[in-house]
This record gives sequence, C-alpha cells and structure tokens, in this order.
Amino acid sequence: MSCLYPHAPGLLPRTGKKVKGAETTMNILELPFIAAIRQNHALEHATIHVLTQRNPYLHLVGRTTPRGFLIYGDVETELVAEAASEALARLQAGETGLAVHPRCGTNIATAGVLAGLSAFAVASVRSKSRLARLPQILLATTVAIIVAQPLGLILQEYLTTSPRVEGVRIEKIIRQQLGKIVMHRVELGRE
Ligand SMILES: [Zn+2]
Repeated sequence: MSCLYPHAPGLLPRTGKKVKGAETTMNILELPFIAAIRQNHALEHATIHVLTQRNPYLHLVGRTTPRGFLIYGDVETELVAEAASEALARLQAGETGLAVHPRCGTNIATAGVLAGLSAFAVASVRSKSRLARLPQILLATTVAIIVAQPLGLILQEYLTTSPRVEGVRIEKIIRQQLGKIVMHRVELGRE
C-alpha cells in the first residue's frame, strides 16, 4: 500500500460504526498475516501524521511492508524514531484517528476504480454518439472522485488499517540512501 503525503492533513475521527454483513470479511481481516499488515499500515499513517504535525512542509511517501513500513523523504533518522514511538504510544492510548490518512493509496485506488466504473457505465448507454456522452462521462467521473474520498476513508478504517496495536513494538529503524532519495525502513516486532 503506497501513500502520498505532500502536506500535513487534518486528523480524521474514526466512526466506529458496525458494518452489517461484514462478519466473513472481518474474519479474513483477523488472520495473523493480514492483521499484522493492517497494524503496520495504521502505524505508518500515524508516524506520518506525527512527522507532518511537527513539520508541515515535509514531503513524504509511505509504504507498508509485511515486517513494518518504509518512509521515503528527507528526514533525520532520530525524528523518524521519535515519531514512530510517539505514534505507537498514541495509537495504544486510543487515538485511533491517527490510523487513517486522507493521502493514503486506498483513497487513490478507490477513486480510480469508481471513476473507471462510472465512465464505463455512462459509455455503455448506446443512445448517443461518443462525443455527446463526453460531458456525462466527465460529470460521472468527477462525482465518483468526490464520493471516493469519504468512501476511501471508510475502507481504510474497516479494511486496510487496524489501530489495535497492543503488543506491537519497534524493533529497529534502518536508514538507506538510494541516490538522492532517503528511505527509512521501520521494522516492527510482536509479542
Ligand atoms: Zn495508506
């Protein structure tokens, strides 16, 4: 899951509502491998929130991995370590809104899928020429992208992140320089 963080976003409250008929999905989400990825993703978002709260001009890209997460961007290793520790403590203290991020790849993917589907739906209407349908396609894809933002946040909350990070600890943080790009690899452990 890749996430782009060009500027400091506002924190989003998690709704905490129950989704009907989601029990099967929830069981899959609780599988250890999936649950760990969702926790790592939550901690990645929370760390980026803490870093950009301290410095709103930071330009960061995050990516979740099976072992933890990566943060691309020119930032001191000490700051990454402090931010990751603070993010973990704040999630464990119940600040679950930190787990959701408006610049997450989940939102971008949701927008792409919805825009594609809506364009496909409008283009499938055979009554008019393709050119005559263009304004409707543009309108449908624009509406889809607007709707995708809150929907992406809901998908993050219920599917792609989990703020329940009890028992998670930061094992090590490795700084790597890839040409001009600075990357930090944050590795997490579990009790
Ligand atoms: Zn994300």
